[in-house]
Amino acid sequence: MQRQSYSTYLVDEVKFPFCKGCGHTHAVRYLDKALTILQRDPCFINLVSDIGCIELVDSLFPDIHTVHTTHGRSTAFATGIELADSILHDSDLKTVVILGDGGATIGLLHIVNAALMNVDISVLVCNNFLYGMTGGQHSALTPMNMVTTTTPVGNIIPPMDICKVVESCEAGFVARALATDRNLPDILAKAIDYSGFSLVEILEICPEYGDKSGEVDDRRIKEFVKEKDFPLGILVNRSDRLEFGEAYGKMMEKIGAEKTTKKDDGFLESEFSSTLDKQIEVVIAGTAGERVQRAAYLLLQTAIKSGLHATQKNDNPATGGSGFSLSEVVLSPNEIYFTEIECPDCIIISSQDGFKEIRANGTLGRVGPDSLIIADESIRLTEAEAGCRVIYLPLRTEFGPESAALGGIMTWLKITEILSSGAVAEVIEGKIANK
Ligand code: SF4
Ligand SMILES: [Mg+2]
Repeated sequence: MQRQSYSTYLVDEVKFPFCKGCGHTHAVRYLDKALTILQRDPCFINLVSDIGCIELVDSLFPDIHTVHTTHGRSTAFATGIELADSILHDSDLKTVVILGDGGATIGLLHIVNAALMNVDISVLVCNNFLYGMTGGQHSALTPMNMVTTTTPVGNIIPPMDICKVVESCEAGFVARALATDRNLPDILAKAIDYSGFSLVEILEICPEYGDKSGEVDDRRIKEFVKEKDFPLGILVNRSDRLEFGEAYGKMMEKIGAEKTTKKDDGFLESEFSSTLDKQIEVVIAGTAGERVQRAAYLLLQTAIKSGLHATQKNDNPATGGSGFSLSEVVLSPNEIYFTEIECPDCIIISSQDGFKEIRANGTLGRVGPDSLIIADESIRLTEAEAGCRVIYLPLRTEFGPESAALGGIMTWLKITEILSSGAVAEVIEGKIANK
């Protein structure tokens, strides 16, 4: 089949939404040119935008994926999208972040983290040296002496060099160019094509608040930033670091993590079967440090190996090693769209700490007549609380405090028989033997 060629990714008869003469118009046109150099299928391009004038870009690219995020957080969203794509889906999505100097200032640590990780995203910082959308306030990238609405007699704080910041984080591809630079499409194409973290700082002018003296051109942008004497061009282009997805894959191989087999629909192959025919909710409540959440995780693993969908939400005090520990588990033969516990089918209570917490947080009040409570013998529910069948067992004496929650889960599995004994033996009993 003949491959489609793309002469533009922009909407037909594009009308740029920026003020007359705004540097963003140049940056977006050149981003489009960069994409035409790469000729990627738009289904495999993802543009993640922030908040600010440049983020009006979303509607200009109708066929590529766009994700509009919160101020400064676009790089964090992009990092998550890329990790999900490369690690879970093994796909080939190219994720491009576009944000301004304001977003880069607010979300600097997300950029730093992405560069340190070497996650495969390209961050384009459209730097017009101020917050354009909110009225021309200075940012951390505003040059010395520049007049903005918040620096009316000139900025007295030196600007951050965003390129140097990511260089210090071992970023593999770093470049800076004027928004009017005819080489910018090539630079952007190289950055987007780079395997790993890349950042391009695009120097612009905001004619509305930054410099109102006329049309933007190379000379005026250079004049504007001359005091900083920014080096231009590709500043770093190295290939000695593994992109995060590859590094992660190698690490998993090293620790001998099991390779998972996926079916065509992207879900894991199941090794065992289950008799569960509806969604059920399980709450496991015990004491922090007594492996409550790990016990719930083993239940989850067993369920997933048996072809079920499963979610787990944990809760414990900030200290982590004292007080209560809770897990809320939802299991279903179908995809799970709602992970809250509305009416628990089973509550397993392995200690007084867990009991106190589910009393306080209202879980006990949500049991129905068909629910089941499996509680350690040290616990006594009031008549009002025990609105369903309650089984008291010597969980702590028989299994020990650290396996009391797991003992409760195994008891419940024996009663319900929703998972095969083979799956339980392989995952849960195997883990107990190897603990
Ligand atoms: S306010 Fe400034 S940055 Fe925003 S669109 Fe207008 S010129 Fe461009
Ligand atoms: Mg700006």
